[in-house]
Amino acid sequence: MHTLDLVALTTQELVASGLQLPIMDAFYTIQGEGRFTGYPAYFIRLGGCDVGCVWCDVKESWEAAKWPVLSIEEIVKDALAFPGRLVVITGGEPLMYNLDPLTKLLKEKGFTTNIETSGAHPFSGNFDWVCFSPKKFKKPHPSIYAQADELKVVIYNKSDFSFAEEHSNLVNSDCELRLQPEWSKASKLTPEIIDYVKNHPTWKISLQTHKFMDIP
Ligand code: SF4
Repeated sequence: MHTLDLVALTTQELVASGLQLPIMDAFYTIQGEGRFTGYPAYFIRLGGCDVGCVWCDVKESWEAAKWPVLSIEEIVKDALAFPGRLVVITGGEPLMYNLDPLTKLLKEKGFTTNIETSGAHPFSGNFDWVCFSPKKFKKPHPSIYAQADELKVVIYNKSDFSFAEEHSNLVNSDCELRLQPEWSKASKLTPEIIDYVKNHPTWKISLQTHKFMDIP
């Protein structure tokens, strides 16, 4: 698309095409959970989520209009200011947006791209690792199942174990399976999750280690 064409587009159209995105936060830290635990990573937290988890710890992300809209060039330039070349795109719910343009540019600049998503919207983007964390509050879009490299189910009550099993039957056979205690209930639920994983060894435990380290 030519620059003059871009000038003619409204912000709404640019966001719809994925050339601009609402950014709630972007920061360099250590990935605290899942397959890449312990890796330095630049997190891009997109604003906007329509999933509505009752225990959500980033409810301020829900309303996309609250957050500044940046071009993908600005987003990538900010990421390049740090030495790590692993990017984690999260939210909010990042798949509310077309992530093809942003991930294409990130890959051109040499980044490894990860996403953390509830899968509630059609899949887009070029990702090296897809962490799919389905939520009961909004059904996943069918396009996520073939893409998931990791299934991470947050355990908030006992019925979440059967919810986890249901989804494990829908992902690829090499998808890594993880159960993660919801943070506010971790002391109560972790012993049950330990027992569950010992009896169902296709699963592993995921802990939010960044919360223990007191980093974002
Ligand atoms: S999908 Fe994530 S951001 Fe959205 S409500 Fe659930 S926990 Fe919060």
